[in-house]
Amino acid sequence: MDEPIRALAALVRERQPCVVLTGAGVSTESGIPDFRSPTGIWAEYDPMEYATIDAFRRDPVKVWEFYALRFEVLVSAEPNAGHLALAELERRGLVQAVVTQNIDGLHERAGSRDVVEVHGSIRTASCLECGEQVPLDAVVAALRAAPAPSCSRCGAILKPDVVMFGEMLPVDAIERATELARRAGLLLAVGSTLEVYPVAGLPEETVSAGGELAIVNRGSTPFDGLASIRIAGGAGETLAALAEELA
Ligand code: NAD
Repeated sequence: MDEPIRALAALVRERQPCVVLTGAGVSTESGIPDFRSPTGIWAEYDPMEYATIDAFRRDPVKVWEFYALRFEVLVSAEPNAGHLALAELERRGLVQAVVTQNIDGLHERAGSRDVVEVHGSIRTASCLECGEQVPLDAVVAALRAAPAPSCSRCGAILKPDVVMFGEMLPVDAIERATELARRAGLLLAVGSTLEVYPVAGLPEETVSAGGELAIVNRGSTPFDGLASIRIAGGAGETLAALAEELA
């Protein structure tokens, strides 16, 4: 493990700015299951029934039954060694920003300041009818009293402000992420299968603009061949070792 970590640390030092792209694998060590692993969420729930905007419009209460279970886990999770290491590297000026597909808010809670949430977050939920937006604690309280939170203004069922399949990504976030990837000397992708577009297009943005790609992920990704370094270790221990190597 030491040699790949030393090589990754050298890349981080030499190929600034370093932008980090994270996926669900960075949060599994916080107890939040990912989607595509054998123990992931899609092994149990069909995404077409629970994670598309059409499914939500068809039967929002059913979709909330799924989200209520996820929210319980998400709100009690704590940042792990990987989130903390990335925040530390940002403080030391070695990581410019974190682009994340995660909706759990754990990077921010770990102390990362420049976090681009390309798939939204559970921090708020919104009413698709009247636009009312409510904070997470109100959603959690509503879920204790009813199967789905409803809008206090118009009564419609609220939707969590996370990007569901079939929805557009927040324009500002994906534009900023693309710009960061294009200008990055190094894009470090951690804990993502890199299968969900447009985020999966970011490694190519970096490499075609002359930057390098490094991947830390337990499973394989379609971009492994494009990476200068690939480490198949756990995100927490790998990022903690990287921060130590760079200290
Ligand atoms: P994914 O489930 O497709 O892939 C996760 C990858 O991480 C897998 O390749 C797996 O092998 C790897 N992995 C799992 N645990 C790891 C660990 N401890 N160390 C290193 N690698 C590990 O996830 P993705 O690529 O992020 O998929 C994208 C979608 O998943 C996004 O839309 C995101 O919003 C959503 N998602 C978010 C959360 C969260 O917020 N924590 C959780 C589940 C899914």
